[in-house]
Amino acid sequence: MESGFVPEGFNATIWEDIEPLTNDLMERELSCSSCIESLISDSSELAEHISETGALLYIGMTCDTESEEKRESYLNFMSTIRPKLSEFSDALNRRIVQHPSVDDLPDRYDLMLRGMRTDVEIFRKENIPLGVRQTELVTEAQTINGAMTVEFEGEERTFPQMSKYLESNDRSQRQAAWVSISGRRMEDSERLSEIFDELISIRHQMATNAGFESYTQYMFRAMHRFDYTIEDCLEFHESVESVCMPILESINKDRCDGLGISELSPWDVNEKGGSGPDIHGREPLRPFETVDEMVEKLSEMFHEISNDLGGKFDKLVEMDTLDLDTRKGKAPGGYQYYLEKSRVPFIFMNAAGLQGDLETMIHEAGHAFHSLYCGHLELIDERDYPIEFAEVASMSMELLTQPWWDKFYDSEQADRARRTHLEGVVFLLPWIATIDSFQHWIYANPGHSREERAEVWLSIRDRFGSKMDWTGHTDFRELSWQTQGHLFGVPFYYIEYGIAQLGSLQLWKTQMSDPQKALDDYANAMTLGNTRTLPELFAAADLELGFNEGHFMSLMDTVGTALSELPT
Ligand SMILES: [Zn+2]
Repeated sequence: MESGFVPEGFNATIWEDIEPLTNDLMERELSCSSCIESLISDSSELAEHISETGALLYIGMTCDTESEEKRESYLNFMSTIRPKLSEFSDALNRRIVQHPSVDDLPDRYDLMLRGMRTDVEIFRKENIPLGVRQTELVTEAQTINGAMTVEFEGEERTFPQMSKYLESNDRSQRQAAWVSISGRRMEDSERLSEIFDELISIRHQMATNAGFESYTQYMFRAMHRFDYTIEDCLEFHESVESVCMPILESINKDRCDGLGISELSPWDVNEKGGSGPDIHGREPLRPFETVDEMVEKLSEMFHEISNDLGGKFDKLVEMDTLDLDTRKGKAPGGYQYYLEKSRVPFIFMNAAGLQGDLETMIHEAGHAFHSLYCGHLELIDERDYPIEFAEVASMSMELLTQPWWDKFYDSEQADRARRTHLEGVVFLLPWIATIDSFQHWIYANPGHSREERAEVWLSIRDRFGSKMDWTGHTDFRELSWQTQGHLFGVPFYYIEYGIAQLGSLQLWKTQMSDPQKALDDYANAMTLGNTRTLPELFAAADLELGFNEGHFMSLMDTVGTALSELPT
């Protein structure tokens, strides 16, 4: 597969190593469409090396946010190499799409060309330095968040380590934990607001430079959202409001009754994922003690589901590209990053022994499976699956593995875990609507004041949030959007989770009647990588891509039925 365009010893952090290759790609003679094909293949090989270098620098930094050196290396790459590359890629895109023989290329290149034409349409050279500044600000926000710890019950603890206290059955301990976390966040909230203000103004400027009225329109192009519109997103919000909110409210009512309180406080339920203490006062779910134990049981579980998934999971372990434990100085959250040249998925997370950690690991494993399923595709672009479908790979894995969760629990606990997870599905959709509609407002109104922002955030939270008593904590509530890193780092990336959740729920429904078909549908679609449009990928897994109320209703009915069949 290696054509050998990139020489031995090539180092993508050194521009002098890259330049001869980009010059070759820009200057070589292109007399026919097959010359364009080999140009695309060589540039794909170069892109693999560069992508992998960027990935390794990012991984290095997020695994060790305290290392100045790693942060510098990453930022240096992003500020010196990346800008030159974006200029080069625009020139190369133009060279390809404007070539007289471009229409003679086989169909295989259609989607790639559609993407290139869009990138050419929105590219502006003057946006490059703005992009660099954006990366600096995002990295600063990440560093601030990664450094947040609290002194709690005599020890310094990371936020992921604190999550277990938020599930404690002792309400005053939960409250103390929540108050210490929110208090710590407030200490850095001013700087985070400043960073966000600057990001909004940079982003609006980028859109204006590219001839768009708003950053929203610009981003729909930049993110290659060809198959749904701004109006579809608004319809999604409305469907969430009418279909999911009544279920969320009834879950919260049971929670109040179970906890014997008349009104929830912020420490009684996690706004984003719906987690909290057990309503019958049982000990919190602890699926594993150590990361090794989690990995070993997951391997058994995937083997029982299918040899295919079991083999793929073991491959992840063998390749030793997992960094799963939580520790101070590690960036928050979890992600899967595919190393394009080695064709190896890397998984990052902060496991502290909670049910949520198990779900995260299964989620990231789903991403890794997706990468492995389409790793055979030759060109980097053909493997670059759309995010909306990437999250089907991961979110459906959470649902499809549910019948095997007895591996981690006795049968009563396993049912509790399933209930918690399904309640999480109900809670997540309104949170997605929250973040998405907030971003639509933010970028439609880039000149807003912080007061207006707070007001709009609160009204969106009233529409999609749990009813609770915020007395004494309204200052934190007004700024609680700061806890959602996507708003800083990957603007507009959030509705994808919602679109994917709707796809995942359909795969789960398929599994209920025909488990083998669900696995086959999954494999069929994931193997296609980015060689089909989003609606075609959904169709390949026998799924419908939709946003309307009726579609929501049929899926949430299934969730409601499953919840009613599980013991409370
Ligand atoms: Zn994901």
